[in-house]
Amino acid sequence: MSEDIIRIRDLSTRFFTAEGQVNAVSDLELTIERGEVFGIVGESGSGKSVTALSVMDLVESPGEITGGSIEYRNPAFADAIRDTHPDAVDGELVDLLAIPRETRQSLRGTSFSMVFQDPESSFNPTLTVGEQLAEAVEVQRRASANPRSTRARTNRSRYSLGSYVLSTVLPSQRYVTDESRNRAVELLELVGIPDPVERADEYPYEYSGGMLQRAMIAQALAGEPDVLIADEPTTALDVTIQAQILDLLSDLQEETGMTILLITHNLGVVAWMCDRVGVMYAGEIVERGQLEDVFDRPTHPYTKGLLGSVPDLEGAGGRLQPIPGNVPSLLDREMPDRCYFADRCPKAMDECLEHPPEFDVEGSDEHAAKCYLAEVEYTESRALPADYFELKDASETDERPVAADDEEPHRTGSGTGQETETTPAGDGSTSGSGGDSE
Ligand code: SF4
Repeated sequence: MSEDIIRIRDLSTRFFTAEGQVNAVSDLELTIERGEVFGIVGESGSGKSVTALSVMDLVESPGEITGGSIEYRNPAFADAIRDTHPDAVDGELVDLLAIPRETRQSLRGTSFSMVFQDPESSFNPTLTVGEQLAEAVEVQRRASANPRSTRARTNRSRYSLGSYVLSTVLPSQRYVTDESRNRAVELLELVGIPDPVERADEYPYEYSGGMLQRAMIAQALAGEPDVLIADEPTTALDVTIQAQILDLLSDLQEETGMTILLITHNLGVVAWMCDRVGVMYAGEIVERGQLEDVFDRPTHPYTKGLLGSVPDLEGAGGRLQPIPGNVPSLLDREMPDRCYFADRCPKAMDECLEHPPEFDVEGSDEHAAKCYLAEVEYTESRALPADYFELKDASETDERPVAADDEEPHRTGSGTGQETETTPAGDGSTSGSGGDSE
């Protein structure tokens, strides 16, 4: 097994909104091995993209990383900052949240790079694609050559100090050099853009969606990153183009050996590309492991639910099994102190109400789940009543004071089970099954 390149421990990212604190990512644990494709999969609103933005340090106000660590293994970088930030360095690992923001952000491009899901809004429509790629190349080269930058001390630069000094005195219209223009064309060729020399002089509107996504991948590769984070890289594309982009990412990963963190809601994409997978729900990884373990022997009922809701062409005639209910509110005041999936879980038990479960197995490679089913066997005797949460929600929304000698309420409605009950005082307050469990 190869060494880990990223270790995330207890990462919490919050958003402080007018409605209250939103716990987008909570105590997240994740380890990514060098050279692997790790997939994070889950429904919209589960915290996948916020996790990626946290690693890239792109969380913007009112969001904030409020706790935890993101350790990055890079011996040269660790050596470069060991003296100035000894507390942030542990061997070859650097805790990115324990170093100044500008030092952390200097890693963008060469250490971490990101491909976003909407290529059309990511390019400047007034500049040619080639110019924008060349600019990205130039930014990375200058940052690597600046003798005052931490990155220059990591000896990764192929840009001489002389070139750097020259570049700083060139007029602004020459910001992009011939060398970086040539590299831009090389990158377009690398990602399979036909006639890259001519295409480099075209504007984004002249590219198809698939070509623009390829160009965005080329831009992300400008600094030859260790880790490429791809956030729903195929969501905006036609199915056939999706397959081409996934093939391209796989080929690039094999060629360059870079690590890929793939964020997606699409289990098919995960199955196609990933070595390992983390299933995310309500801001947490709830199951992780090798792809085959998680897909063939899922433990968490949410993982089983996701797999059951995928169309299966071989099982013709079988019906999809949607997961009932919705992802829970991540507002701090509305998050219960129990398993967050309990009210959607077909196997919820008494112990699931006690507190949120922890992983049953430590370590990066093992198959593990945050679910009591990983430790205890499900039996009918342990199960909560089928209508447990329905009754609980109904009782919590009942504002009427309960009195032992209350008169019988007057029922209204059609007798179909949708009745509401009015108090004798006729004040319009409702009780019973009228409460909405969502
Ligand atoms: S801990 Fe309990 S409620 Fe949560 S997923 Fe597991 S079985 Fe279901």
